[in-house]
Amino acid sequence: MDILLKNLTLIDGTRRAPQENAVLVIRDGKILYAGASSGWSGSQEEVVNLDLGGHFTLPGLIDTHVHLAGSGEVDSQFRSESGAMALKMLSNAQKNLAAGITTVRDLGGWNEVEFIVRDWIQRREFPGPRMSLAGRFISITEVGADYYEGMYRVADGVDEIRKAVREQVKHGADWIKIGVTGAVLVEHGEPGLTHFNEDEIRALVEESTKFGRPVAAHAHGVDGIHKAIRAGVRTIEHGTFLFQDPAVIQLMAEQGIFLIPTLKVGWDIILAKDSNIPAWILEKNKATQGEAELSLKLAYEAGVPIAMGSDVGTPLNFHGENGLEIYWMQQAGMSAIDALVAATGNAARALGWDSWLGTLETGKAADLIVVDANPLEDLRILADQNHLQFVMKEGQVAACHAENDLPPALFAEQVLLIQ
Ligand SMILES: [Zn+2]
Repeated sequence: MDILLKNLTLIDGTRRAPQENAVLVIRDGKILYAGASSGWSGSQEEVVNLDLGGHFTLPGLIDTHVHLAGSGEVDSQFRSESGAMALKMLSNAQKNLAAGITTVRDLGGWNEVEFIVRDWIQRREFPGPRMSLAGRFISITEVGADYYEGMYRVADGVDEIRKAVREQVKHGADWIKIGVTGAVLVEHGEPGLTHFNEDEIRALVEESTKFGRPVAAHAHGVDGIHKAIRAGVRTIEHGTFLFQDPAVIQLMAEQGIFLIPTLKVGWDIILAKDSNIPAWILEKNKATQGEAELSLKLAYEAGVPIAMGSDVGTPLNFHGENGLEIYWMQQAGMSAIDALVAATGNAARALGWDSWLGTLETGKAADLIVVDANPLEDLRILADQNHLQFVMKEGQVAACHAENDLPPALFAEQVLLIQ
């Protein structure tokens, strides 16, 4: 059985302009054809038709930096007993899917519970997004390790680092996450300070590479970013102080290393004026937000590849609002189409999954969202579930509004309701 979505405006997740009167044909969860209706010659198979009335159809969004263990707690304290944590993570994962985020990369889980959640979603016991996991955040001995006990794996020295990497691989990690510098969301943490020594970073990347796992580097300070790049990491998370050294930005552009700027969390904290936010969290974000924006702008202008990562789970940064990160990237200087590509085609490239995911092109997974307004005219539409009509994952409707009149044949076994 083929699925024919017709009369849609196609935004395919490449830099191509929206295409009106397009059709999209899906077979076995994959895209068979996407493009002008005149280019489609018809199916030999039985076909389920759906007229989308001109609505905008784009790839399911990919968020390359989330924390399923957090629900936006004001003090950034994620702690929970294991059973409760599993439910919390599942609930957060489903909020992503219901908001059109069909793929997430978790860069700091909790006591390995996220692996169980991923497995149960993969086995279709529960609906949820596709998940790429890093397991624990590998860190030097420092204050954050106590604060985020359960998320951190402390490792000092080359031997312990190799062991820490092996543990994540054993648990089923797709990525290895390293805290190269201090953090904003750790009290007394110094984001500019390089934590690991260069031999330690190199050993971590070497060990990860041996197991075929790419490395995501949490790095604010430019010295740490430089060392991470030289060691061979694939993504730089945050990159707040990149603006201090154009040569490092140039190096990222030349080597195709992705920047994941995570601007939303700072804005959520600054704009909320929530008196429950600890003063140190507010002050540190106020101090660095402008610099983080400038760093993104300079990196973007220099041709550094950018991927969307919202850091949802952090204070007041709620699962399901991820799409606002795309808007904030535009506000910092990216074009609307490039910000959107950062959350689709480029995000898939950052994950190394672009051969089968991230754009609406022949052969790719049929993960898509349908919205009733043009997101390129206002990217905030992507975080407004009133505009979201339905979400498809692998060619099946996985989330939709209750009143949606979709053919029953299109539905997955379990479907989430969009609020
Ligand atoms: Zn994070």
